[in-house]
Amino acid sequence: MTLSIYEQLKVKTAVNAWGTVTKVGGSKMAPEVLEAMAEASKHYVEIAALHEAAGRRVAELLGVEACCITCGAAAGIAISAAACMTRGDAAKKLQLPDTTGMPDEALVLKCHRTLYDQAMLLSGVKAKEIGTVSFACVEQVEAAISDRSAFFFYASEAEPMRGSIDLNKIIPILKKRNVPVVVDAAAEVPPKSNIRKYLDMGADLVIFSGGKELRGPQSSGLILGGTSLIAACDANCCPNYSIGRSMKIDKETIAGIVKAVELFAAKDYDKQIAIWESMVHRITEELSKSPYATVREGFPIEPGIQPADLLRAYVKPTRKSAERLYTELLERDPQIYTGLSGHELAVNPQCLEEEEIPVLVKAFKELL
Ligand SMILES: *Cc1c(COP(=O)(O)O)cnc(C)c1O
Repeated sequence: MTLSIYEQLKVKTAVNAWGTVTKVGGSKMAPEVLEAMAEASKHYVEIAALHEAAGRRVAELLGVEACCITCGAAAGIAISAAACMTRGDAAKKLQLPDTTGMPDEALVLKCHRTLYDQAMLLSGVKAKEIGTVSFACVEQVEAAISDRSAFFFYASEAEPMRGSIDLNKIIPILKKRNVPVVVDAAAEVPPKSNIRKYLDMGADLVIFSGGKELRGPQSSGLILGGTSLIAACDANCCPNYSIGRSMKIDKETIAGIVKAVELFAAKDYDKQIAIWESMVHRITEELSKSPYATVREGFPIEPGIQPADLLRAYVKPTRKSAERLYTELLERDPQIYTGLSGHELAVNPQCLEEEEIPVLVKAFKELL
């Protein structure tokens, strides 16, 4: 019997009831996506031409003006920052991360600082925080704008936080002063409508991960926006020289994300959500039989858990702590990944396969 690559390397595989999380591989690609990647690998091609044509195709499929394909949403954040500071200027982009002579402040609400915004700082931009963790108002946004403002960075997952402000209220203020708004919406699908939501509100650049619900290659991402700023993104993105040169995107990945977006655009999400919900019902029903757990269904309420409107099963063990159960599930082979949420484990169906449900249920029952 031939060993799988993971067996050869002696690393366990995982049943993923956590979600489209990079730490466990994001999401699985459809066979069509892998085929497109294999096909792309058979020929040489001018990468800049492919990158531009693929961006146009993705924009068309998603019904937006323009798109720059990147090697991930984090790279998209860095490249967007470079684009806003340089506007694609040939000399300025080669000067980064030295920002002399450029607007070099990223305005950001204090509660919108995330682990991912380190990516924007790579470009040389400095974060100018507005408000406190628990409070911010539009007057503070207005007062923070100056000639040094390069863009306003908005983390959509932080929107429900107390110190946040509705994007709708922020955009008009920035529009008046010509400061572009960049939204990190990396994991905000489903719903599908979120792809256009922030652009329709007036945001200038919106960033999505290609390797989460879009189910493209793990190392892919999209920046969506208007033609001129997206051209500035392209100028700062590999194969062109700028800070984006170190965030390489290859022909196989470009082909893969185009195919994945094609499948995503055609996908019936009402049907998909019904499948996910029935998986959650099955898990809830099975685990409710255990005398050692309280099980409920619900939606995540803490900010930062994406996508927020996807039903989960929440399991509260009664004989041991949730943390203990979480760890024991990870010690198994295959590992069982869930989300640890206070005193409960959250079971997210987004990356589960039907045939993995019995494996997950068995593991829970043995450990509860
Ligand atoms: C996953 C994620 C990113 C990073 O996306 P990659 O495609 O892995 O680079 C950035 N921001 C948020 C909010 C995310 O959830």
